Amino acid sequence: MPTLLGKNRECLIQSDEAEKFKSNVSEWAEKLDVETKEIHLRSMKNKWASLSRNGRLTFNTELLEMEREFCDYVIVHELLHMKVPNHGKLFKSLMLAFLPDWERYSERLKVDR
Ligand SMILES: [Zn+2]
Repeated sequence: MPTLLGKNRECLIQSDEAEKFKSNVSEWAEKLDVETKEIHLRSMKNKWASLSRNGRLTFNTELLEMEREFCDYVIVHELLHMKVPNHGKLFKSLMLAFLPDWERYSERLKVDR
């Protein structure tokens, strides 16, 4: 019985964190003026986030344990790809406009594409 209760609690905490993360994504989407259709969280081996062609965003559940600034970086990075598909000059200047510190975090991100 105690094991079962423990598990349920963990599950609740996780879903709470996931909801917070998703609402953070929505807030950023509003700031960046992009429209998100679906936001998913699941564990991924090789990357922090991905964006499918139909606008579906998936974030790595490991982000739930990372610091806020790094999450913001991954979120803004992925949302900006809805505007700019590459990592060119425009992409970099938009990153700088929204997250002046982004280069500090970029090294930790395994570049998606
Ligand atoms: Zn990218």
